[in-house]
Amino acid sequence: MARHLITSAIPYINGIKHLGNLVGSQLPADLYARYLRARGDEVMFLCATDEHGTPAELAAAKAGKPVDEFCREMHAVQSEIADGFRLSFDHFGRSSSPQNHRLTQHFAGRLADAGLIREVSEKQVYSNADGRFLPDRYIEGTCPNCGYDKARGDQCENCTKQLDPTDLIDPRSAISGSTDLEVRETKHLYLRQSDMRGKLQEWIDSKTDWPVLTTSIAKKWLNDGDGLQDRGITRDLDWGIPVKKGTEDWPGMEGKVFYVWFDAPIEYIACAGEWAEANGKTNADWERWWRTDKGADDVRYTQFMGKDNVPFHTLSFPATILGSGEPWKLVDYIKSFNYLNYDGGQFSTSQGRGVFMDQALEILPADYWRWWLLSHAPESSDSEFTWENFQGSVNKDLADVLGNFASRVTKFCRSKFGEEVPDGGTPGDREAQLSAALDSGLAEYQAHMDAIEIRKAANALRALWVLGNEYLQDAAPWATFKEDPQTAAMQIRTALNLIRFYAVISSPFIPDASAQLLTAMHSENATWPTDAASALSALQVGHAFSVPDVTFRKITDEERESWQERFSGTRD
Ligand SMILES: [Zn+2]
Repeated sequence: MARHLITSAIPYINGIKHLGNLVGSQLPADLYARYLRARGDEVMFLCATDEHGTPAELAAAKAGKPVDEFCREMHAVQSEIADGFRLSFDHFGRSSSPQNHRLTQHFAGRLADAGLIREVSEKQVYSNADGRFLPDRYIEGTCPNCGYDKARGDQCENCTKQLDPTDLIDPRSAISGSTDLEVRETKHLYLRQSDMRGKLQEWIDSKTDWPVLTTSIAKKWLNDGDGLQDRGITRDLDWGIPVKKGTEDWPGMEGKVFYVWFDAPIEYIACAGEWAEANGKTNADWERWWRTDKGADDVRYTQFMGKDNVPFHTLSFPATILGSGEPWKLVDYIKSFNYLNYDGGQFSTSQGRGVFMDQALEILPADYWRWWLLSHAPESSDSEFTWENFQGSVNKDLADVLGNFASRVTKFCRSKFGEEVPDGGTPGDREAQLSAALDSGLAEYQAHMDAIEIRKAANALRALWVLGNEYLQDAAPWATFKEDPQTAAMQIRTALNLIRFYAVISSPFIPDASAQLLTAMHSENATWPTDAASALSALQVGHAFSVPDVTFRKITDEERESWQERFSGTRD
């Protein structure tokens, strides 16, 4: 039994994510986890909320809540929505967990011992009214270049000029609006990523099977300009993981926390510790997934993320792991995604443009979204959500092809033979051809799933559904029945078994519909098929079934138009 560790990029805590975020990491990771479990592999699938940093503090302040309480509540909200989409995490953790505190401090200590951390004195803007240092983007003022009066300390949005906060005319705090600002000297820790460049280059060069999207981004950051830069790993904030060297205090770093980019990926590891604690397991139980000296040397580790997260996962996090000098599991395969656009533009969290995860579940069950998003995953290029395409895909693939097949077959059987698998007839050439086509289609589907080629896998699955429809059309049991009821019984027996076969192999994409079809077929046997011939005789003569409720309904033109209007901007 193969062992698979799977992580999805961890969503930021400050709000509900849109469908573009979902298809860029969590959903394809879930598809892969479900597939591998269905094939009988051992899977550890982890995700968490990313809870530190200034945006979380500001969102909490806006909500009028202490930041820890805000994060606890938002974690519960995101967790419930993840359940709604049937994301089958073994654990959905929190980067603010005690486990992540300990582990982040541990890694910082190891890196310091290895000489990979240096102290840097910096000048930073301090707001007396806010009682805190302000990150560059939380300082506003007038652009010296174009005169725009809402330029940010890192960049002017109007003329795109890169700025330093000290360039701004009449600078003020974006938090309080206060102009009582001063420049203070403060010390920060930097991870010497530049010293790790050779090691990282060698490691990335060894990954010859990675998607081009992943390696090209990594190599660009390694080699462009002056090459990989050292990066600050601390911040002057209240909310975060206090800077410590392992369990020891870090002189000069009192009152500072680790920068969110440093602690967030470490949560992938800490999350396994949270899983162990939540399930009454031991340290050895989670370490066998993460420590190659404690059983993880046979684990295959796959990460899922949007392309914007690739630099952190190919360079920064590996620099932390390699730099620690400890035998932690490094990623084996990174599956990265382009962006999903929305109806002629972009999804926008700030403008409320596009469909957000909670809204999606209000209007249709999870499987409708799962199918469309996965079958249109932005793999080789950006892809676009349009309501016309969504309606067309749901109505055709799910309602006409799969749902209608199950409905026609079960209803016809009930009316002519009753609600059990009918006896009579012998399979002939047509069934042999069907069986051969299913075998080759299944092999193709599995090959794409194994390679995490998601659109190709969806196409192969759809083609398998189509084979059943073509068989039914060709065999036409409703016509056969008039002349030769025995042969019609055999055809229906074949088709009833196809419903069960489809339920099993479709479960990674559409788990609820699959479960519903298996229940209708009174089958508790969801074992992944080894070949079509045995799958087509799994339900034996006399096996009872029920006619399923409508598995998928069609989306009407009126619905499509009203949703298009509702989600065009400004979230309600
Ligand atoms: Zn400007």
